[in-house]
Amino acid sequence: MKPVVDEDLCIACGQCEEICPEVFVLEDVARVIVESPGPELYGCCRDAADACPTEAITITEE
Ligand code: SF4
Repeated sequence: MKPVVDEDLCIACGQCEEICPEVFVLEDVARVIVESPGPELYGCCRDAADACPTEAITITEE
């Protein structure tokens, strides 16, 4: 799994960091700090993507 934040869409609301701080950290926009999260983080990555108000987070199955 590979989560990606579209920085042009991110409005820096902080939701993803709140839901999945192991993977997302809010700086000026949200950043992905773990490029290939392990299976234990799949759920929170998906929850963060679902919660993102601007759909800035996409998850690929690489
Ligand atoms: Fe940006 Fe979406 Fe994360 Fe909010 S939830 S900080 S808009 S990526």
